Amino acid sequence: MNNEFLEKIKELGVHEYGIIPVENVPFEHEVREMCAANRCGSYAKTWCCPPGCGTEEECREKCMKYKNVLVFSTKGDLEDSFDFEGMTEAMVRHKAVSKKVRLLFKETFGDDFFALSSEGCGNCEKCTYPDAPCRFPDDMMPSVESYGIMVYKEAAAAGIHYINGANTVTYFSNIFFK
Ligand code: SF4
Repeated sequence: MNNEFLEKIKELGVHEYGIIPVENVPFEHEVREMCAANRCGSYAKTWCCPPGCGTEEECREKCMKYKNVLVFSTKGDLEDSFDFEGMTEAMVRHKAVSKKVRLLFKETFGDDFFALSSEGCGNCEKCTYPDAPCRFPDDMMPSVESYGIMVYKEAAAAGIHYINGANTVTYFSNIFFK
């Protein structure tokens, strides 16, 4: 991966990034259990989250076809730790930045990659799940957690911060590539 691309993703709004071999991605069953507890409210609501995104094994296999992972974060500033509006705004921004990074990756390196973002999908007002196929399969990014990845461990493996200080929120995305 060239430096020019990595400089450009910073310009797009990426806070930090790191590249790790796919063998170092911490897939853990516990993460899928946390999804099933539905604390984020996205479980069984979209094709981007369990169970619609596939079984644990299917998700892992899909990732393991690739060689490396670009792990990147965005950081949002909050008024305080109860600033839920700020968290939502930061999530919307993270998804937008992730889409731009994915598009730049595609334009720079081609189609052979797979991207994950944070939380549910958000592309459509109402997801087609489970009644009909996804409307925009090429434009949806399942969540990192939905694929069973323990994000704080992955951030540590990539050498980037999981937490960026008081009154901030940090979200993560992945691009798997060869
Ligand atoms: S793009 Fe639309 S149909 Fe597809 S998973 Fe997202 S919300 Fe659902």
